[in-house]
Amino acid sequence: MKTRVVIVGGGTAGWLTAGIIAARHCVQNSSTHGTQNTEVILVESPDVKNLGVGEGTWPTMRDTLRQIGISERTFLSCCDASFKQASKFVGWSNGKNEHYYHPFTAPSGYGAVSMADHWSATGSAAQLDINNDINFESWVCAQGAICDKNLAPKLPQMPEYAFSLNYGYHLNAGKFVKILHQHCVEKLGVKYIQGHVEHVIPRDNGDISEIVLSNGKHIDGDLFIDCSGFAAILIGKHYQIPFKSQKHILFNDTALALQVEHASDDTPIASCTVATAQKSGWIWDISLQNRRGIGHVFASDFTTVESAEDALLDYVKNDPLLASQKLTPRTIKFNPGHRETFWHKNCVAIGVSAGFVEPLEATALVLIEKSAEWISQQLPRDRNAMSVLAKRFNHLTLQRWQEIIDFLKLHYILSNRTDSEYWQAHQHKDSIPESLQDALLLWRTQAPGLYETNQRFELFSSASKQYVLYGMDFNSEQKHEVHLCQKEASLIKRIRNENLHITEKLLSALPTNRQFLSKILQNKP
Ligand SMILES: Cc1cc2nc3c(=O)[nH]c(=O)nc-3n(C[C@H](O)[C@H](O)[C@H](O)COP(=O)(O)OP(=O)(O)OC[C@H]3O[C@@H](n4cnc5c(N)ncnc54)[C@H](O)[C@@H]3O)c2cc1C
Repeated sequence: MKTRVVIVGGGTAGWLTAGIIAARHCVQNSSTHGTQNTEVILVESPDVKNLGVGEGTWPTMRDTLRQIGISERTFLSCCDASFKQASKFVGWSNGKNEHYYHPFTAPSGYGAVSMADHWSATGSAAQLDINNDINFESWVCAQGAICDKNLAPKLPQMPEYAFSLNYGYHLNAGKFVKILHQHCVEKLGVKYIQGHVEHVIPRDNGDISEIVLSNGKHIDGDLFIDCSGFAAILIGKHYQIPFKSQKHILFNDTALALQVEHASDDTPIASCTVATAQKSGWIWDISLQNRRGIGHVFASDFTTVESAEDALLDYVKNDPLLASQKLTPRTIKFNPGHRETFWHKNCVAIGVSAGFVEPLEATALVLIEKSAEWISQQLPRDRNAMSVLAKRFNHLTLQRWQEIIDFLKLHYILSNRTDSEYWQAHQHKDSIPESLQDALLLWRTQAPGLYETNQRFELFSSASKQYVLYGMDFNSEQKHEVHLCQKEASLIKRIRNENLHITEKLLSALPTNRQFLSKILQNKP
């Protein structure tokens, strides 16, 4: 008997989950160690549109695509995609157009020596070439300089998914769903059923036995994966698993989204997501091959939709690299937070049905990938095993949510902005989780290091924390003492010189994103 996995929802969460499970368990001659006695069915409502946003990914997406079996060239050309190498934060410290990068490439020497500890220490500045003209990221990494010039993270002759600098993607979410759908059905044997899930028939033990569609069709299964987005049809509507709002920590609850054409065919394509702080939120800016996705995420407790829309349209109007056109933003409302548990009985929620907080640092797709990968690796072989796995999954996923919430909140509380109630409210102690308060206390005396967490599956490495902390000038007034011995000083100097050398080499060798992508598109699959 085959194990039947039924996925409800055909948005990015549904199709990524289907692809990740099917690539491991359903494909004959798969290079993975799947059992091949699994059947994956995806059910999608013809009446409920998917979100259609979610355009920035982490580098994990390269592995996901490779594992599913989609070629990078096909992906780039079918999804209008481009490379994402960093997030660039503008105006977060002082609101004066200053910026810093959080790149995907770890600091030079990461794991061998803590450059960050020396950056944030007294006494080492003169010895280590640290002066007022340099920021932490460019002291330890080449990627910000590459992003400044809109360069690609690799040379065109490099193999697919290989890189000079670590990268993820910017993509058209609608087109991404289309290519995943086609690939999963045609290449991975996923069965697609169109139908609106109306209700559930339970078993005596409370498991889901069957889902019932509005056309009367019944679908039975062993494991049901709820990827039904905000509808949360199984985990929320059927099981009534409580939702934990996190709005008291992360205030943003509304987004206005636009798609804006480039001014011309040769407008540069940025290598990073630009996040520009506003009075009551921030504006995201994502550059694809043919257009930009631009939107304003804000807190409706602190501003009105009208003011937020004005700020967004001003942002667009003031950018000469955008075509002038009449624009009407789409409004998306959300309650930031997540479920209390994610796997209940024989049902597990992935994607927005499990939770969603604002898109800062693009944490949603990576959590989908990681959750689906975990489930695929550990696909329960019987019902008893499922209960054990459910407990473990819930523990891990809750930890991940806490990690995400702390890391996003960090961006706000490091700010010196006091120009609006929104920024002031972010400083209130009551809005800062205890775990983050503890971490900040620790980081006053030592930089985040390799032993920062005990988690094997942490989402944000200490490198990410270093980039944000020192990008935001954390501790610059109360540097801690670190004794720098001669041997360590020369190692750091060597790493620093290597970094300078690599930066220069890459600046002269790498093509622009536009040049790289044009070359790929000449040979469209
Ligand atoms: C403004 C904004 C910006 C974002 N930006 C990013 C980003 O840059 N990076 C990132 O990683 N993430 C981002 N996200 C999150 C990302 O968009 C989502 O995580 C992603 O789209 C996954 O959504 P989903 O598949 O869970 O839900 P959806 O896309 O909403 O899909 C839900 C599916 O369920 C189906 N469905 C619903 N009800 C039923 C029913 N009764 N029966 C059958 N089917 C049903 C629908 O038809 C649909 O197919 C952003 C989100 C927002 C709101």
